Amino acid sequence: MTCKDAEKLIPLFLDDDLDNRDLSDFLSHMENCAECKEELTIQFLVKVGMKRLEDGNTFNLKRELDGLLSEAGRRLKVRRSLVLFSYVLEGCVVVLAATAFVLNLFL
Ligand SMILES: [Zn+2]
Repeated sequence: MTCKDAEKLIPLFLDDDLDNRDLSDFLSHMENCAECKEELTIQFLVKVGMKRLEDGNTFNLKRELDGLLSEAGRRLKVRRSLVLFSYVLEGCVVVLAATAFVLNLFL
């Protein structure tokens, strides 16, 4: 992923609107690219900071952003294992259907 791509995805990331592949590329780009991380931090501060000010809450945005990033990584893993699980399930259904079909032939 190029920096240009990553920058385009920042608003989507902040709205939690990325699919697994984009999210995965995005997160690894953020880990390795200080410039884009900086840009993400700024956009995060603007987006979330404004809201916090409106709410009148105290906040630690740096910590929140770190939390958001590691949370996104965790969710990505969960979502991936769900996808894997659905493949396994699909496989089981196919096997069951085939078994039922064969049994029908012989019974
Ligand atoms: Zn970059």
